[in-house]
Amino acid sequence: MKKQFYIITSIVISGIFAFTACGNNPDNENNTDKTAENSTVEAQITNTGLTETEKNDLLRLREEEKLARDVYLYAADKYNFFTFNNISKSEQQHMTQVLNILTAYGLNDPASESRGVFNNKELQEIYDNLTAKVDNSLLDALITGAIIEDLDIHDIKTFISRAENPEVIDMYKRIVCGSRNHMRAFNAQLKLRNNGYTPQYISQSDFDAIIAHEHERCFFDKNNNY
Ligand code: MN
Ligand code: MN
Repeated sequence: MKKQFYIITSIVISGIFAFTACGNNPDNENNTDKTAENSTVEAQITNTGLTETEKNDLLRLREEEKLARDVYLYAADKYNFFTFNNISKSEQQHMTQVLNILTAYGLNDPASESRGVFNNKELQEIYDNLTAKVDNSLLDALITGAIIEDLDIHDIKTFISRAENPEVIDMYKRIVCGSRNHMRAFNAQLKLRNNGYTPQYISQSDFDAIIAHEHERCFFDKNNNY
């Protein structure tokens, strides 16, 4: 009896999968590139190329997210403060999201496995300067967090403005949404200590709009524009 139940369930489940596979792919009949083994997402990625600008921006962003993660891990080690512990985990997820795109397009990962080591000379210099600032005090470390998010938001907005690939743009929007939440978190900690932050990369009005807005859920709110 149990065995029969199992068989019937399996048939129903595989039926659902077969139905979903066709149902998600409206141009299935016309597309000869898509094989049965390819998921819809993989097929979309293979069907769209990357411009040289998109490639260079993605390679930079992979190490820029690592810059954020490594500085926050450095600050977490030094002060064991929850904001750094939490946000460093989010930066690891951002690094993975960029890596997934690099891998899908056959680009080599520029990020070193060693913490605090960067192939991009400019990012190495920024890491060295910012960790020196983290050393000063917890307050300086929180300002450092705001500086990193400021730079990140500025750069990703630029990348979005010149990107064409919808998959890449979608990933950028999710990541920059996270950066806005991080900026809110660091700004809140600075306010608790009677400190403000003056943006160095994004405009004051962009900064004010981000701070005025509530925390975002980045899977749903990624198309917000601040
Ligand atoms: Mn990030
Ligand atoms: Mn961030």
